[in-house]
Amino acid sequence: MTDSSRKKLIIGLAVMLAGGIVLLATAIHVQAMSTVIQAGKVNWPLVEAALMLTLVEKILFGLAVAATLAAAYFAAKRLGGIITGGQGKPDWKLAFKRLAGVLAKIVTFQPVFRFRPLTSLFHALVGWGFGFYLLVNLLDVLRGYLPGFEIPSTGGNIYRLLADVLSVGVLIGMTFFLVRRFVFRPANLSTREATLLHPKARAGIRRDSAIVGGFILLHVGSRFLGESFLVAAQGHADGWQPAASAVAGLWSGWSPQALVIGQHAAFWLALGLILAFIPYFPYSKHVHLFFAPLNFLLKPERRSIGELSRLNFEDESVSQFGAAKLADLGWEQIMDAYACIMCFRCQEVCPAYGTGKVLSPAALEINKRYALNYGGMSTLPETPLTEFAISEEAIWACTSCGACVDICPVNNEPMRDILDIRRALVLMENTFPKQLETAFRGMERTFNPWNISPAERMKWAEGLKVPTVEQNPQPDILWWVGCAPATDARAQKTAQAFAKILDAAGVNFAVLGQREQCTGDSARRAGNEYLFNELATTNVTMLNEVKPKRIVTTCPHCLHTLKNEYPAFGGNYEVIHHTQFINELIGSGRLELNPVEQGSGGAGEHITFHDPCYLGRHNKVFAEPREVLEAVQLNLTEMPRHAAKSFCCGAGGAQMWKEEEHGTQNVNKARFAEAKATGAETLAVGCPFCLTMMNDASKADGGEVQVKDVAELVAERLK
Ligand code: SF4
Ligand code: SF4
Repeated sequence: MTDSSRKKLIIGLAVMLAGGIVLLATAIHVQAMSTVIQAGKVNWPLVEAALMLTLVEKILFGLAVAATLAAAYFAAKRLGGIITGGQGKPDWKLAFKRLAGVLAKIVTFQPVFRFRPLTSLFHALVGWGFGFYLLVNLLDVLRGYLPGFEIPSTGGNIYRLLADVLSVGVLIGMTFFLVRRFVFRPANLSTREATLLHPKARAGIRRDSAIVGGFILLHVGSRFLGESFLVAAQGHADGWQPAASAVAGLWSGWSPQALVIGQHAAFWLALGLILAFIPYFPYSKHVHLFFAPLNFLLKPERRSIGELSRLNFEDESVSQFGAAKLADLGWEQIMDAYACIMCFRCQEVCPAYGTGKVLSPAALEINKRYALNYGGMSTLPETPLTEFAISEEAIWACTSCGACVDICPVNNEPMRDILDIRRALVLMENTFPKQLETAFRGMERTFNPWNISPAERMKWAEGLKVPTVEQNPQPDILWWVGCAPATDARAQKTAQAFAKILDAAGVNFAVLGQREQCTGDSARRAGNEYLFNELATTNVTMLNEVKPKRIVTTCPHCLHTLKNEYPAFGGNYEVIHHTQFINELIGSGRLELNPVEQGSGGAGEHITFHDPCYLGRHNKVFAEPREVLEAVQLNLTEMPRHAAKSFCCGAGGAQMWKEEEHGTQNVNKARFAEAKATGAETLAVGCPFCLTMMNDASKADGGEVQVKDVAELVAERLK
């Protein structure tokens, strides 16, 4: 029998057993209640007494709980086995350290509210209410087992008020979700046909949503109705249950017998549904209730969302580099599949999907889950991820912008899977887009993806005061120029502008000159970890000899790599971006700028700023470039997608060195159109890759909008 058939059999038997017990219990209880009620005029104490379960009911309920817990135990054990079958082990000490923060996240629903605010509000209503129902269900069971059990006085009043209000919240929220998914059916709750999706997922997601939504509506709805029957049986409204009291008015003509019987039927339905649902729970998307908090508690520590792990090429026992199959992924990457709520937020913000490519980070997580649900680790070890989780075309469409990781409300990291799969393709199969060969060769031979020899690396600085560390061995600032500003004709203007700024501010700085090699960012993002390893090791050795006090980079990719990824190679440095340093110089009064003349194209000049992914989202530098633009007295108009929600320029993730995958639009053109729509005359950037991509898009558009680095805009105003 396959895993899938066994799973269906267990769930089926558990549901039948739980359902049968519930039906039997309801019949027995209704019979018992009729006897109690017929014994005299119904009053509140009698009704309270009637809430008690009979002995037979208690036994049946206990049996149902045992059966459902047994089914849940086996399912949970299977999930535990699958997750721990991934690489590495969780560090439980992290959970203790993060507990308070994660609890705050759960209570405030903070990661959810960052996107789709209205939907998030309804989700919060359901989440808060359903969380409170853990207590409600427990107390309802105690009420059935213990004579006269109630929370006394004020505590009881507050409890009833919260249960009443939150029940209504859950019912409203759940109705919203069901209407949205099944009536309005928005395109952003699914993925396009061309994207690889498990054959059972398209229908399965809808069915799962219907089951989960129906269960919540019926569970909370029947409990709420039960309370309204009780209020009606009391004969007067309960001020602490305003909603249930309002509904109780509908039952004014009902006999006391009917009300108490109604309450009991509701009691059994509400709790019976929980028992019936629990065995299904581990297979549904509802299981994110467990795995989302676990994801926040246990995800390995990262300096940045884009920090990748180091591979040990010295270890001869390692036979697999990167992830070719599910079992090669880290345990936390497998857990991502269970934490996924299938909300498609990551897909909605993905620049590749947004421009018509076949890449969907959501589909990747969903495919992993469906493959595990319908197979299990035991039957999947040899199936390549590129056959069922994500296509090769999608793998190479990723710009490693990090938007999917940043926006995910449950802390999933689809980008990490993609980059790990690239590693396996490059290192194990030597499979990658042909155009990357030139950049790889450049990085191998001349330590520069443009393949410009080290002898030419300082050409950009001719005629400028740019000392090397040999000429100035004790600099306060070591300026890491980067391959693009050192060799790309357009990006050299950024380097030249920054050199003028440093000179004007009298900064004691030096560059590495010919000793500076590519950081290896593009090699790493392209999956060529071996090449990255070589470059990182050489650079760290050299930097540790130079012992920089502080490094300033003119490229966010260099910033990211030096700051977040070199520590794993023994390189620990203080690294900042040139826009941060310029902001410091302006703030400390070391940099004097000419006042802007009205009408000279200065004051009143409209500008917009494009946040580079590796400066903003990956390294959280949002304010400083904007503060610099403000100091330069430019009128900044933000694009709709800015700061953490910025849209990629299309060059990250080694896209700079290859053709874009087939889609409906180019990423750079989509972003440029957004910038142009602000009405800005100038588009400011802080990254040489963004500079190239936006310049290309501007030229294709007629060149009306100028594209400049923040440093160039500052240099134009130097006294
Ligand atoms: S990193 Fe960016 S491009 Fe890659 S999958 Fe995530 S959102 Fe899409
Ligand atoms: S990975 Fe995160 S953002 Fe993407 S569908 Fe799953 S839960 Fe939503």
